[in-house]
Amino acid sequence: MRFDNNNNKLNLIIKHAKSYGFIYNSCEIYNGIKSIYDYGPNGLVMKNNIKKFWWDYMVRYRQNIVGIDTSILMEKKVWIASGHIKKFKEYYIEIDNKIYKIKEFINLILKNKKIKRKYLNLLNNNKNKIYKLLKIIKKKKLFNNIKVKKVNLMFRTKINPFNSKIYTYLRPETAQGIFINLKNIINSTKLTLPFGIAQIGKSFRNEIVTKEFIFRTKEFEQMEMQFFITPGEEKKWYKYWIDNRLNWHFFFNLGKKNYKLNNHKELSHYTTYATDIEFKYLNKYKELEGIHFRKDYDLKQHIKYSKKKLIFFNPKTNKKILPYIIETSLGVDRLFYSIFCKSIKFEKTRTYLKFPRFISPIKIAILPLIRNNINIIKLSKKIFKNLIYDFNIIYDEKKSIGKRYHYYDAIGTPFCVTIDKLSLIDKTVTIRNRDNMKQIRYKINLLKNYFKKKFNIYTFFKKSIKY
Ligand code: ATP
Repeated sequence: MRFDNNNNKLNLIIKHAKSYGFIYNSCEIYNGIKSIYDYGPNGLVMKNNIKKFWWDYMVRYRQNIVGIDTSILMEKKVWIASGHIKKFKEYYIEIDNKIYKIKEFINLILKNKKIKRKYLNLLNNNKNKIYKLLKIIKKKKLFNNIKVKKVNLMFRTKINPFNSKIYTYLRPETAQGIFINLKNIINSTKLTLPFGIAQIGKSFRNEIVTKEFIFRTKEFEQMEMQFFITPGEEKKWYKYWIDNRLNWHFFFNLGKKNYKLNNHKELSHYTTYATDIEFKYLNKYKELEGIHFRKDYDLKQHIKYSKKKLIFFNPKTNKKILPYIIETSLGVDRLFYSIFCKSIKFEKTRTYLKFPRFISPIKIAILPLIRNNINIIKLSKKIFKNLIYDFNIIYDEKKSIGKRYHYYDAIGTPFCVTIDKLSLIDKTVTIRNRDNMKQIRYKINLLKNYFKKKFNIYTFFKKSIKY
């Protein structure tokens, strides 16, 4: 299917995600809440598959990376030390009741010939000059109604129910939970430099402009890994992690040309240099994952504010050092969206999700061809019981076989196994492939091995991680 514009495609994606139990707008019965979403039964399983694939690759199969699970609510001082209270801010620009981020605002006024380029250049070099530009805009009466405010993106919340002066913030990144636990981790494990600490968890940002479905939301999940290294080794490890992360993304098979590396010119307050792995979602390349060289910024800040020492030894010289940090930070929801965008296929007779097999929520559907034959049902249930502990599968005897195929294509199930009268005689079944709808007959007693080969992703890990 060809689309006149991306909104059409986006609307179909949103509709499909809702109709087939992947993603619902939160609080829909109360007309929904903007930029917050819930995951349905299929969405949840798919999200868990994504997280497991990241965890296995980053933690499970590596000897020098451990995992941690820290709290969302932390002492306010953490955010003072990290710089988020002072610097995690964005311009909120409202023009005639429409909200713009600074980049969009620049694009908007770029189109306006009355604004001289020199003012825009001024803004490009220093965002704080926005107020000067604003004066010019007001003087020239370019817009009826324009308001500009610099706002902090963190959600503030009371931490003591009796005293509103005692407050903190919901975490805007999972990273700080790792830094403040570093002392505990090195004292309670056998890690020596270089090593990593990984975490998957919710983060919250009161984003100004959200727009594209789950691309940017106010509540989202991050998969972050902080890699601690000896100073001087940053170039080597920075390159290592960019290559590693990019290769990991390629395994989803969504087309290598859809990925691009972008060296950040605009740096957040904690980064020395940063590279984004960008992805072409609908028509534009946008950030998927960030690889940041945080240097010793965070550790220095926490040492300064907590007044606690952090003693590390250079393994080569045995002298005291403060390690540098390279961070890899990826949004689960954003990755989910990238997979959904590229996997949805619109054909004349069906819409289906060509998910990478290892990510599909349901791997195999066991479908007796007819319902009123006890022997077929018995055999189907036997096959189901034999596979259920090895794969996430489903048994379904409801509705016509055509409708069932249609449904399992729509939720991205790679294989349907159909049991018919012939199965009772020759002990074979039909395996139907989601992508090309081709069917083959296969021996029942060989099914488990057949699927084990089809869903094996460990060759990828074996190739990608060196010990
Ligand atoms: P963007 O500018 O695209 O909002 P960012 O540069 O602020 O992203 P980082 O602070 O580097 O993002 O966060 C690391 C990763 O976390 C991002 O690459 C993205 O995958 C994810 N992420 C960040 N903010 C959001 C959000 N509001 N909704 C969903 N995912 C997010």
